[in-house]
Amino acid sequence: MDSNQNVVYEGPQAKIASLTGSPLWGKSVQDVIEAWVSQGWIHKGSARPMTPYGLGPLVVHFIAQDGRGIIWIPSYGGEAGSDFLYDQTLTRVFWVLWKAGVKVLLVGGTSGVAEWRKGEDIIRPGDIVLPTDFRTSPDHRGLPGTEFATVWPKYDLTLEDPFCTELAAHLEAEARRYVGGLIGRVHTPRDVRVALVVPDGITYETNFDIEMWQAICATISQMKPDKPPRVTLHGDCINPVLARLLGIHVVYYHMVANWAQGASDVGIVDTLYPLYLGNFTKVALEMEWNLLSTLPLPDGESCACIKSLHVAPEVFSAAMTQGE
Ligand SMILES: [Zn+2]
Repeated sequence: MDSNQNVVYEGPQAKIASLTGSPLWGKSVQDVIEAWVSQGWIHKGSARPMTPYGLGPLVVHFIAQDGRGIIWIPSYGGEAGSDFLYDQTLTRVFWVLWKAGVKVLLVGGTSGVAEWRKGEDIIRPGDIVLPTDFRTSPDHRGLPGTEFATVWPKYDLTLEDPFCTELAAHLEAEARRYVGGLIGRVHTPRDVRVALVVPDGITYETNFDIEMWQAICATISQMKPDKPPRVTLHGDCINPVLARLLGIHVVYYHMVANWAQGASDVGIVDTLYPLYLGNFTKVALEMEWNLLSTLPLPDGESCACIKSLHVAPEVFSAAMTQGE
């Protein structure tokens, strides 16, 4: 992949950033900025920095009341009309996060749930889910042309607890504030082990795709009766592999917007549009403001985010063709 590594980053610095997208699609970028400023943040500026891979995403820079710098990259860096996964969008986004010095990354997504269970406690549209892990994807790659282009042979990066368990406690407490009003239930890895699945195509899955995931999850749950059941959420999963390689703690929540294709008689957009335009935006605006203002920045190696990146013996690299 062509890249110009002479490009110098000219955007803001911040230890904490948000890439939150569809939970905020009920408001324009400008409306979101105005809402957060009205609650007390200072809007320092918005600009698209150049990256080695082309013009970067819109980077919105705020300063919180206590002086904390915060970056928000609207909608995962997606540009209107561009194929999000195939246009190097996330390569540019992560280069910005790396150069900006981001250590904690908040991501809010929305999804359809491929529930196969019955009963009161299942995941439904209108709920918030803290995912357990995700299906790995060929799109979860490194930063070409940099020391983070790939993982092997320099590191062994393992993916137990890919989402920061230390910060998830703060996220759960914040999400529970909306239960009984704007949100149905909050589901955590203690109750149900939810894997995020990114659709392989440019739209929703087929009935077969979802039936396949339901069957897989029902079987896994039967195989491992001592663990919480498995369910998949279908939507975004912003490269947790590269985040871990860069030493970034990822705090991920999903707002469930709909039943996945064929999982219910209720149509996808019948719940999705009202939730996007109503409760989700209200909750995400407040929740993000609170979390970005107050989330602690983990300093040690207490969570898997840092502990599971192992530096491999140097000889592994010497066993390969040497670069120029
Ligand atoms: Zn962590």
